[in-house]
Amino acid sequence: MAKPLDIVIYPSPILEKVSEEVKFPLDNSTTTLITDMWATLAEKGIGLAAPQVGVNKQICIIHLIADARPKGKKDLNFVMINPKIVFESQVENLMVEGCLSFRRFFYEIWRPANISVEFFNEKGKKRTLKAKEWLARVIQHEIGHLQGNLFIKMGGKKIKKDDLKGREVID
Ligand SMILES: [Zn+2]
Repeated sequence: MAKPLDIVIYPSPILEKVSEEVKFPLDNSTTTLITDMWATLAEKGIGLAAPQVGVNKQICIIHLIADARPKGKKDLNFVMINPKIVFESQVENLMVEGCLSFRRFFYEIWRPANISVEFFNEKGKKRTLKAKEWLARVIQHEIGHLQGNLFIKMGGKKIKKDDLKGREVID
């Protein structure tokens, strides 16, 4: 049975380490980790990286609910293993980011608006994905976790939870 894991909260040193590459085929502990990560993310957020549950492996999961996507699209759930951003647009956009490992504040951050990312799925198949808007933002935030590059260190403007005033947040 999948079990929700405890979320590692900043300033745990685990959050600032570079995660290790995952080898294929996945071993049992990695498969279990991914299942438990899904149980952990359920209803809580739109992305989770393995270091946030205390494991420095290059794995992150993305869950975009249909409401946050263009009309007619379904929920989008996928696992990214050993992801690498292979293209970043010169054009950047400004969004407010939150994080399950930082519950009391948010940051307004500029990042590339469009990206391409290469990653492996759970079967070890290589995938390339072009992403924009929300999806591009979530992917960049999660890959940051795998490199120990936390969103709080990107020179953005800090915003307290009470000061969000209904702004859209990537959390
Ligand atoms: Zn985060």
